[in-house]
Amino acid sequence: MRRGGWRQCTGDGLQQLIDPVTALVSGAVRFASFTDLDVAVAAARIGLEAWSGSTLEERREVLRRLERAVDTHAGELTLALSHDIGCPVSTASFVQVQLPLRNLRAIREGLESVEWQTTIAHSLVRRVPIGVVACITPWNAPVHQILAKVAGVIAAGGTVVLKPSEIAPRSVMLLAGMIDEIELPPGVFNFVWGDSELGQHLVTHPGIDMVSFTGSSEVGRKVMVAAGAHLKPVALELGGKSAGIVLRDADLQVAVPAVFRQAMLHSGQTCVCQSRLLVPRERMAETMEIIAHAATEIRTGDPLDPHTNLGPLATAAQFARVGGMVERARAGGARSVLEVDRSPAQRHGFFFPPTVLADVDPASELGQREVFGPVVALMGHDGDDDAVRIANSTPFGLSGAVWSADASVAERVARRLRTGQVSLNGAPGNLAAPAGGFGSSGFGRENGRFSIEAFTAWQAIHTPVAA
Ligand code: NAD
Repeated sequence: MRRGGWRQCTGDGLQQLIDPVTALVSGAVRFASFTDLDVAVAAARIGLEAWSGSTLEERREVLRRLERAVDTHAGELTLALSHDIGCPVSTASFVQVQLPLRNLRAIREGLESVEWQTTIAHSLVRRVPIGVVACITPWNAPVHQILAKVAGVIAAGGTVVLKPSEIAPRSVMLLAGMIDEIELPPGVFNFVWGDSELGQHLVTHPGIDMVSFTGSSEVGRKVMVAAGAHLKPVALELGGKSAGIVLRDADLQVAVPAVFRQAMLHSGQTCVCQSRLLVPRERMAETMEIIAHAATEIRTGDPLDPHTNLGPLATAAQFARVGGMVERARAGGARSVLEVDRSPAQRHGFFFPPTVLADVDPASELGQREVFGPVVALMGHDGDDDAVRIANSTPFGLSGAVWSADASVAERVARRLRTGQVSLNGAPGNLAAPAGGFGSSGFGRENGRFSIEAFTAWQAIHTPVAA
């Protein structure tokens, strides 16, 4: 077996790549066979022997080299993401490349703040790498999801077998090339192409010590069941149905466009998408006018055009899913706030118009389920308690936002939300702080030092006690 090099995948499966702008075939990815997977896992196990004994300075240096490589290739990564998933370059360059780069830095800096070792009475209590980690990632933010896991495992002293999404391979190939470039010791990073079948096989592979999964709640459930049967720990980062809550005293002119823009980011294909906009019921008409105005700033088009801020959906499956949910919501009585049609050129691809639906029943499919498209469910609330009730009424709990003229009121409402993150009055995210969810959004925590701690376990060494 050769370690520290590239091998051709030898599986029978093939994933056709479809350009989301034209819906034409743009390439293909061959899957790894189960034998290829065995080779990758075996390499990771051998790599673990050396890397688990690496010093923090060695890990820091590797992460520093990775940061430099990602920074150097940022432009290529942006273009690759745009080709693969239709993310406009204006969005991809920051959200899909610079933010992951900041997270890499936060993880490296996190090495300082992890409590690696402590003493409890006569016991030495130390964090040890959990071992070989299977990392399974989605297509919507491939670079971010991969780096949040891979850098965390490397920093923890573990080794990786990555199975990225088969739908967005170009940026992942570039990233794997960069990881190769930084000359990690052999066996520390391994990756295989494959679909659900290979993913399932990886989860149950006897050489895997832990599974870290980011993706849909449906697949997350299967991963947890499969891993549980083999008593493997799992970390799950799943979907969301986040609410942007605008309280009665908030400035609607600021809050409403901000939630709308956040929901349209990457055509709504972000896990933290604020796909529910909760506004005071008595200010619904005003809200609709503000949204109509904010929508005039949307430029739908070729993701490679720097002026575009809304690209196509990534896949035909997404297009069908989003369309179906919107149709059913309309049939159920929801009203369109925006009437935006696609241009003739956009009808070939997976372009979905920005959509806001009012009178959405919070208990309906659109009020409860993740859409993963540029679709906002607008709902009225009757005050803080009612807003909290509606916001907490889905099985998800990933993210959200609260807007109020009074910062202390906004914080009080935020504390009542059962979500992993809440932004107050437009505050930016913080990559040194934990990101993760509750309920159907999973229970893992990533970013900064939390990406490292997730891949460690405590070991206690009891020393003799003087009589
Ligand atoms: P998905 O669940 O369909 O696939 C995710 C990954 O799992 C892919 O690599 C896929 O090949 C693999 N997979 C599929 N079936 C599997 C199985 N049975 N066993 C093992 N692996 C399997 O998700 P997706 O469509 O790629 O991504 C979109 C979803 O990801 C959305 O729900 C989104 O909210 C979620 N997401 C969550 C976060 C977060 O941090 N919480 C971040 C990004 C995306």
